[in-house]
Amino acid sequence: MEKKNDSSLPHLPQYCVMLRLSQGLLSLLESCPRKFQYSILEQLAPPPTETLQNSLDWGNRFHLLMQQAQLQLPLGALLNGQAAMRQAFEALHQANPQLLAPSPGAQYDSEHLRSFSLGGHSFSVIYDLLIREAEQAQILDWKTYPKPIQAQTLAQDWQTKLYCFGLVETSNYKPEQVSMTYWFVRGKDSNSQPESLQLTYSQQKHKQIRQEIIEQTTQLNQWMEQYKQGKALPQVPLGQTCDRCNFFNRCRGQNEQTREQFAVDLEAIVEVSL
Ligand code: SF4
Repeated sequence: MEKKNDSSLPHLPQYCVMLRLSQGLLSLLESCPRKFQYSILEQLAPPPTETLQNSLDWGNRFHLLMQQAQLQLPLGALLNGQAAMRQAFEALHQANPQLLAPSPGAQYDSEHLRSFSLGGHSFSVIYDLLIREAEQAQILDWKTYPKPIQAQTLAQDWQTKLYCFGLVETSNYKPEQVSMTYWFVRGKDSNSQPESLQLTYSQQKHKQIRQEIIEQTTQLNQWMEQYKQGKALPQVPLGQTCDRCNFFNRCRGQNEQTREQFAVDLEAIVEVSL
């Protein structure tokens, strides 16, 4: 049940007046506004689990490795004792030698930051690698989880949408000249090869994404105004998203027993629907 006019809510901090939004924050907002409130406005997100932290560390190290390679800096310190990373790096290089050997006339930029404003908020995108040529631009992103997602899911992801949108907004490239390529560098086992997925962009997508951003930010602005008055951001309906949520007890005001009960009920619903 929605909590209304919760007087225990803190006042809106100054940094919330104009948010710098990223693809991660838009995804979080879309998945659950209340979770956005707890994680971002109130900074209540718990630290990552050890497994997640290890995975994040691996990813960060790989991104640094690719950046160092792009800048032609020594890689030894990053690769020493990192057999899996060395294998992933070499396999990626083999799969696409051009990643580290720019073709003439192309400009390569690693960890390239761009910013723009829309709907009263500023947006930032950071490209793992941006390859610019006279008539086309390619955004590349390294994914360090092993299994590629369905292309359609990836096309709908805020990262794809915001990254392509941001480049067109901050350059002279037409949408049709922009593409985004994901490289999945970490296979299921040591024999796995990196896989890539390229997504194209268009004027129609650009127009649609602009509309989505305006709708999201208009909605966010309204929620922020209400939050300043003491009203919490909306919850999503109880479902599997909630069952996996770190804020379940805070949000629902229920105990672990209720969560377990809910999980049982959910199984029953699934069984009936089958
Ligand atoms: S429990 Fe559900 S509604 Fe509450 S923050 Fe988590 S995902 Fe959102």
